[in-house]
Amino acid sequence: SQRLQGKTAFITAAGQGIGRAIAEAFVREGATVIATDINAALLHGVVEATGCRAQVMDATDAVAIRAAAAQAGLVDVLVNAAGYVHAGTVLDCTEADWDFAFNLNVRSQFRTIQAFLPGMLAENGGHGGSIINLASVAGSLKGAPNRFVYGSTKAAVIGLTKAVAADFITRGVRCNAICPGTVESPSLRDRIAAQAQASGQTLAQVEAAFIARQPMGRLGRTSEIAALAVYLASDESAFTTGTAQVIDGGWSN
Ligand code: NAD
Repeated sequence: SQRLQGKTAFITAAGQGIGRAIAEAFVREGATVIATDINAALLHGVVEATGCRAQVMDATDAVAIRAAAAQAGLVDVLVNAAGYVHAGTVLDCTEADWDFAFNLNVRSQFRTIQAFLPGMLAENGGHGGSIINLASVAGSLKGAPNRFVYGSTKAAVIGLTKAVAADFITRGVRCNAICPGTVESPSLRDRIAAQAQASGQTLAQVEAAFIARQPMGRLGRTSEIAALAVYLASDESAFTTGTAQVIDGGWSN
């Protein structure tokens, strides 16, 4: 039976990677999915594959988020997948990098939650909700080398998640964070290429280093992250809120 039957889900950064895998899994489980992304061409591919609704939306655009929320109507599940990984230490991070990273990785989640949560609250005629924020093991769970601003933002995502969970725990809305280890995705390929160029190593050498930090000896799959998202979106996880769910092949163990 379908685990998300009757639920409507709104997903940011659903064009590729983890966000797209979540959109596909949610559709398979019977949800009505509104997939959003800044990249129209990527969204087109998601619609072709799943038949879901789609809308171009820049997750850093406050006006666009409010408009999308008004248009979406009642939403049961909000997935915040938008995020960008800067490489570098505190010495490499510019003011612009800091602002960009916090704006996309954290402020976007504040804005979407502020826009969608009122409609989830039972007293407003909503039927509760589940908010799922993409964090990372890199952040407050583990310091990852060369991930200074990224880790800072993802630690903030866990704090934001717990704060929202605490405030709405008795009002039918749950909020949880997913903390993946390294997951095979288009942007990971970009990071591997950039790192190879910067270090003079081959692509294979850089990829091997990413795999080597995963004790399981392999990268995560987006479908594995999507399976956790289905659980957190469904009523199966009704007793789970304010958590940071680690899914990292043992990286942080
Ligand atoms: P990705 O980086 O490959 O894809 C990102 C998507 O975001 C693209 O479709 C892109 O068009 C879209 N996007 C970029 N800027 C946007 C904006 N301003 N508004 C809306 N959409 C925008 O995806 P991924 O690697 O699967 O990462 C998804 C999330 O999971 C991120 O928050 C990331 O930090 C987190 N995460 C990823 C990994 C990993 O190893 N891939 C590990 C831990 C956490």
